[in-house]
Amino acid sequence: MAETARVWVRNFVDGVFIEPDENAWYDNIDPATGASVGRVHTADATLVDRAVTAGRRAVTAWANTPVAERTALLRRAADRIEERFDEFVAAEIGDTGKPITQARTLDVRRAPQNFRSFADTVAAAGQESFITEIGDGRRALNYAVRKPLGVVAIIVPWNLPLLLLTWKVAPALACGNAVVVKPSEETPSTATLLAEVLAEVGLPPGVFNVVHGRGEVGELLTRHPGVAGVTFTGSSATGSRVMGAVAPRVRAVSFELGGKNAAVVFDDADLEETLNGLTRSIFTNTGQVCLCTERVYVQRGIFDAVAAGLTKRALGLTLGRPIDEATTTGPLISAAHREKVLRYFDLAQDAGAEVLVGGGVPEVGAELDGGSWIEPTLWTGLTNDAAAVREEIFGPVAALIPFDDENEAIALANDTDYGLAASVWTNDLRRGHRVAQAMDVGMSWVNTWFLRDLRSPFGGMGLSGLGREGGASSLHFYTEPTNVCVQL
Ligand code: NAD
Repeated sequence: MAETARVWVRNFVDGVFIEPDENAWYDNIDPATGASVGRVHTADATLVDRAVTAGRRAVTAWANTPVAERTALLRRAADRIEERFDEFVAAEIGDTGKPITQARTLDVRRAPQNFRSFADTVAAAGQESFITEIGDGRRALNYAVRKPLGVVAIIVPWNLPLLLLTWKVAPALACGNAVVVKPSEETPSTATLLAEVLAEVGLPPGVFNVVHGRGEVGELLTRHPGVAGVTFTGSSATGSRVMGAVAPRVRAVSFELGGKNAAVVFDDADLEETLNGLTRSIFTNTGQVCLCTERVYVQRGIFDAVAAGLTKRALGLTLGRPIDEATTTGPLISAAHREKVLRYFDLAQDAGAEVLVGGGVPEVGAELDGGSWIEPTLWTGLTNDAAAVREEIFGPVAALIPFDDENEAIALANDTDYGLAASVWTNDLRRGHRVAQAMDVGMSWVNTWFLRDLRSPFGGMGLSGLGREGGASSLHFYTEPTNVCVQL
């Protein structure tokens, strides 16, 4: 352990890894054990400025590189991530403590998919054009040329680090932007590996830069005059602060923020399929996915069956060492985050919750004792006015609440300040469409959850965000049109 504690995670600016500063670092903690797995070099204002300046210098040539060359480079990056797959998996596990099976099948698997999907989207993109009838037989041609924004700041959280990072890096680069990336302070490693990969496949220096550190480093980026746009994934509170920082310069922003997502379960749903789907939607990544379900509205006739079935499945989850293939559930990201989740456990009890399962800190054995472990937890007996039902907890926890009819279910599900995702469970085709469309959210699933087509729009309403990314929506965010009107 002493040996690995000296491993440095470095900043990457203008095509080179920066020699770390012995006086500016913090420990990278493995949340499964609480042990340090390395030191992260914290960027300062000078380094952030160097990164943005490098991006500005590099962006014109990159923007003028033919689309075919840019997209070919992204495809090589996808191939290279696959060649170095196990290194990315190990880095993601070391930072997050997530189970190896999940890191392989969800997190790292999505990175090459992101690169290939946005290479396809940008390669196939057309331009809008209109013929305008002016009168007297005269006409004009309008067409829009899409140009990259310039240097885009990409700020991302710790829950799905590489997946969320590449979801933004791929379209930004494909559209011809340069980027400065600020990964979460909790999960700096895969962004750093990605810098290696992009250099290996020949991305010109300055087009991709990584700066490490806490929120202050993100703020330096959002306030930097050389940054043309900010795309941010993280909590709603930070999103609001970023919006304030960007406001004086009126820059493009895209926000993918928190959620308090509902599942609506009708009594005609296939019970087994629904229970399996709900288990995934509540407990995947220890509940630390923005899309995770924390409110489950169940039609009264099947309430007890759903409660019993979910309890059984929660008890069947296996907490354990991330590298064990049998482990299904990792720790929370940090001791501080566990404190927050435990506070909601108390608040729920105060509000009259009955704990079906969990509610505390589990016994995980001496080796993992220093980690941020928490029990998968389910409650009944709460209503929509409880803090634990209104506020995002971001842990392996959900409240089960009964309803009688469809209108009541829709009203309960939409009674929230958030608007990210919902899932509807029913065998009635018409009701499935009807209720899914009635959800005031960015993404609504029927009889499934987190099934993604990367060409479809992704984002949220209300406190859950602003704007959409994915497919053509990403193209719109990462470029700006100049409309040209030619009188013919
Ligand atoms: P966070 O808001 O604390 O941090 C996100 C990132 O912002 C980190 O890199 C952090 O260092 C940086 N940051 C913090 N303060 C900043 C500031 N003032 N200026 C600029 N950057 C700053 O979020 P988190 O705890 O890392 O992540 C969990 C949150 O992310 C949850 O709310 C979750 O729902 C949300 N999330 C949303 C989506 C989505 O697509 N909607 C996806 C994943 C996670």
